[in-house]
Order: sequence, then structure tokens, then C-alpha cells
Amino acid sequence: MARYTGASCRLCRREGQKLFLKGERCYSDKCAIVTRKGAVPGQHGQGRKKVSEYGIQLRAKQKTKRFYGVSENQFYHYYEMAERRPGMAGENLPRFLESRLDNIVYRAGFANSRKEARQLVLHRHFTVNGKRVNIPSYLCKAGDVIAVADGFKNSEKLKSIVEINGARPVPMWIDKNNDQMVASIVRLPNREDIDLEVEEHLIVELYSK
Ligand code: SF4
Repeated sequence: MARYTGASCRLCRREGQKLFLKGERCYSDKCAIVTRKGAVPGQHGQGRKKVSEYGIQLRAKQKTKRFYGVSENQFYHYYEMAERRPGMAGENLPRFLESRLDNIVYRAGFANSRKEARQLVLHRHFTVNGKRVNIPSYLCKAGDVIAVADGFKNSEKLKSIVEINGARPVPMWIDKNNDQMVASIVRLPNREDIDLEVEEHLIVELYSK
């Protein structure tokens, strides 16, 4: 399925919560979730009917997919991987999504949004364990070291990103060295480390049908 190219804020409003798709604006009073007070988009947005069980499960899946900016096919692929791994699929799934290189670049504050992180990775601006990687979906492991590549390190763009994102907290499972522009994966995240309000068991139920 093609990647969604419409208005990002509309997606957040549809899900009724911030998905942090636009960078700096998401942390400001200009965020549409704040200014529109959570109103659902569209002519028939208000006064929706009671949502079915399927509808609730679908929203959980869509919300998670949109939060990480992955396609339907990719998302299902992560679900299959999560199912095959020991443990609960609902807990494995967000861990896979968080392990993506574009997510880690964003989490470490080297990009304003996951979308921007994806572009920066595609442009070969990051290394993993010393080697340039241009695959946004590259899955990082505990112990991996993600660094800003030479050339991008002294760019005005990176300076601006770091300035904007300086106050954004870096998760505990990532150890960021600001001087060297390096982020090390201390461990993969647990569910409680992830700031996405979704009940993963609903996604598992949806795909188990
Ligand atoms: Fe979502 Fe960011 Fe738009 Fe707010 S500003 S609605 S968090 S994309």
C-alpha cells in the first residue's frame, strides 16, 4: 500500500491523540490536537455511532502504524515477526517498531520527526557500528552504536535539529553522547518505555481473525 501523503495533523485528529508527525509544531500550542480540542476531522466527524469491536481493533492498528509511519505491508510483516518470537506478540511488536533505525534517529533527537529521520537515513547521514546504513527499516540491536556521519555532523541542518530537539527527553534505553553525536542502544525497550497509548492486544486480536 502506498504511503499516506495527506495532512499529518488529520491523522492525529482521526486517532484522537498526538502522533508527533510534524516535529517542532507537535510540541507547541499550534498542534491541531490542542487547537481543535481533539475534534475528529470530516463533515461527519462529530457524533459518531457506537464503534464495533472490529472498529476498536482497527483503530489500535491504524494508530500504531501511523505513529511509526510504516506501510500496511511492513506493519503486518512486523506482526508476523512478533508472533514468531518467544513471548507475547503484543509486547514484541512495539519493540520491533522501536528498533527501526529511523525511529532511533528520531528518539535520539537527530531528526525533528520520524518522517525526517527516514529521509536523513536514506541520504546516508548515519552509521551503525561504523558503517553507513541507508535503510530506514534497519533493525538495531542492543549494543549497536548509531552515529551522525561525517559531512552531516557540521551541517547547519543538524545544528538546527539539535537546537530544536535539545529539550526533548531521550529514552532510557538509548545512551546519547551530545558531543560526539552518537546514540548507543543500551537495551531494547520494554513496553513501559514506549509513549504510545495503545492496547497492543487489540492488534493481535485483529490479525488473529
Ligand atoms: Fe499531530 Fe503534530 Fe499535527 Fe499535533 S502538530 S496534530 S502532534 S502532527
